Amino acid sequence: MEIRQEDLKQLSGLLANPRQNIVIVSHTNPDGDAVGSSLAWRDVLERMGHRVTCLIPNKYPYFLDWMPGIDTVVSFKNDETGLTRRVVAEADLIFCLDFNAISRLEGLGEVIETNTTARRILIDHHLSPPPGFDLSFSYPDASSTAFVVYSMIEKMLGIKAITKNMAEVLYVGMMTDTGNFSFSFLTPALYRAVAVLAETGIDIPSIHNNVYNAYTEGRARLFGYAINRKMEVIHDGTVAYMSLLESEMRRFQFQPGDSEGFVNYPLTIKRMKLSAIFIAHRKFIRISLRSRGGVNVDLFARKYFNGGGHRNAAGGKSFVSMRETIEHFKRSIEEFAAEGGLD
Ligand code: 5GP
Ligand code: MN
Repeated sequence: MEIRQEDLKQLSGLLANPRQNIVIVSHTNPDGDAVGSSLAWRDVLERMGHRVTCLIPNKYPYFLDWMPGIDTVVSFKNDETGLTRRVVAEADLIFCLDFNAISRLEGLGEVIETNTTARRILIDHHLSPPPGFDLSFSYPDASSTAFVVYSMIEKMLGIKAITKNMAEVLYVGMMTDTGNFSFSFLTPALYRAVAVLAETGIDIPSIHNNVYNAYTEGRARLFGYAINRKMEVIHDGTVAYMSLLESEMRRFQFQPGDSEGFVNYPLTIKRMKLSAIFIAHRKFIRISLRSRGGVNVDLFARKYFNGGGHRNAAGGKSFVSMRETIEHFKRSIEEFAAEGGLD
């Protein structure tokens, strides 16, 4: 992955005027990569002298609380002061980080679609980048948006510009989107980037501890329940799915972010190729999909669940009942398998 020089030149042009109003937006249910890449990019822009606000559609999960600067990120859902609309209306530039469909912004999408004349720039690593951006840093073969941001900083300003704070939040993005450096796209360049971040003196074990060992007791018990009681294995041991109803989540004092990572676990079973989890929300069911190797859940999510993502990690939504969603999933798996999708 090499950041295109012409795009950087265009970006420098857009950033050349001093003291511009800039908004950074990222996706709903923001994860470590969404928040980490946003915070690092804000730091870069502020250093250039711009005024920057980070927006997210809803609140970040509690295990990201400790990230430096996260307390100033504005959650649209909890914004009662109208700050979101104001900063978007005043924005000269809007950076969209870590998502490939405006629908991933939920209500915030409408605000940035209608309330502004700002130029829009995409920085992302998902498949199928949407059209309509003035400038696009779309690198689907990057393991995280944090790594794209890192590579942009490296090319624009050099590695000396990376502070310890930036390194910390970028590391969170790289770590969480690669499943702690265990999924695909683990390139030598990524490890060189990690080495640069480590040089700033960040405490990697404590970052790991802050993110992965900070869950509630309820979350641990919900996980046990989901695996033990709710996991179904189908298609000759190669596909697993779990589902959680709102009533079940309430029993374990569910907090946003608690189901993060559950969907990965069935892939620890030998021969498992695809894992899905269905999580009931008030108005719809969220689907998360994970797969191994050549099995493409981006395609699956696109075709059957109005979603998308990456080859081995994707998601989508369903607007029918849990029972119907699971029936649709099982039928879809049979069709997908018959077309060679699970080979
Ligand atoms: P997760 O399962 O962690 O929520 O999401 C896995 C990946 O799929 C993420 O990269 C995420 O951006 C993408 N994704 C999840 N839900 C959706 C969706 O509804 N639409 C699209 N286009 N991508 C999604
Ligand atoms: Mn990401």
